[in-house]
Amino acid sequence: MAATDATSLEAAQPALSGSTHPPAASEPSAIFTGPRRGSHPRAQASARPARVVEFRGASKLYGAGDVGLERATFVIRRQEMVFLVGPTGSGKSTIMRLLIKEIEPSEGRVRVAGRDLCEIPRQKIPFYRRNLGVVFQDFKLLPTRTVYDNIAYALQVTGASRKQIRATLPEILRLTGLSTKLHSYPHQLSGGEQQRVAIARAFASHPPLLLADEPTGNLDPETSIGIMQLLYRINRAGTTVIIASHDSGMVDRMRRRVIELRRGRIVRDEASGSYGGREESTDELGERLRREVA
Ligand code: ADP
Ligand code: MG
Repeated sequence: MAATDATSLEAAQPALSGSTHPPAASEPSAIFTGPRRGSHPRAQASARPARVVEFRGASKLYGAGDVGLERATFVIRRQEMVFLVGPTGSGKSTIMRLLIKEIEPSEGRVRVAGRDLCEIPRQKIPFYRRNLGVVFQDFKLLPTRTVYDNIAYALQVTGASRKQIRATLPEILRLTGLSTKLHSYPHQLSGGEQQRVAIARAFASHPPLLLADEPTGNLDPETSIGIMQLLYRINRAGTTVIIASHDSGMVDRMRRRVIELRRGRIVRDEASGSYGGREESTDELGERLRREVA
C-alpha cells in the first residue's frame, strides 16, 4: 500500500466536522480523523472511532405505507466486513441510501463515526461523502473518460493535486488489476473490469468506509469471485466494508458478518454468517474468496 500517499490525501481532506477548509495537522477535528502525516496507518487505527456505523431504531417510510426500513438497530465497527442480504425490496439499498445521506430516516438515528447524519447540513454533505467510497451494481463510470481519468477525477474532487494523483494512481491500478487498461474507455472493458474501475475510483482516496450495493449483480459467477476477492483485500487492508448482496452462496462462503433483512426488518444478524441457514463449510470456493492475492 502507498501509505504515504494515502496519508497525505486523507490529511488534505476537509473533515466530517464540516469545516470547509482542510484542518491543520494538529487539529483534533474530524469524525474520521485520518492518520497524521508521517505516521503509519496501523499505529493510528486505535485513534479512529470503534463504531463506524450505528443505526438506532432507524425507520424509513417512503410515502403511502411503503416501508423501506423498520426500526433497524445495529452497530458496525472499524474494519468489519458486513454483508446485507435479503430478497429484492427488503431494504438493503435503503440502508445504503441512508448512509450516503441521500435520504433521511423517518424516525430513529443513523450515526457514522459517532456523528448523527441528521446534524450535517445540506451544504456540508459533499464533504461528508468524501469519507465514503461507494460502488453500485451498474458501475456508474464516466463513459467518455479513460480508466485513468475516471479514477483521477474522483481524486481531483477531493482536492488532491495532480502530483498526488500521479503518485497514487499506479498503486490503485495495481491493487485492482487494471495496470494494462489505464488508457481504455469503459465500453472497451468487460463488466468485471468496469466494476474494478468503479472500485478503484471508490477506494482511490482510501476512505475509511466503503459501501457496495450489489456489486456483483450484473456479473457472472467467476467474475463475481474476483470482485469479492478485491473487496476482501480492501477490507483486510483496514477499510470498513459494507456489501449488499443477494448471492447467498458467495456471502456464505466469505464467512463474515451477515445482516439479513425481510420487508425492511432485520431478521438475522450473525457474526460470521451462514446465510441460508447452512453450516459453515470449508470448500474450495470459500478458500478462493478469502485468499489474499498480493
Ligand atoms: P432492496 O435494495 O433490498 O431491494 P430497497 O431498499 O430498494 O430494497 O427497497 C425497500 C422497500 O422500499 C421496497 O418495498 C421498495 O419498494 C421501497 N422503496 C424503495 N425506494 C422507494 C421509493 N423511492 N419510493 C417508494 N418506495 C420505495
Ligand atoms: Mg437494492
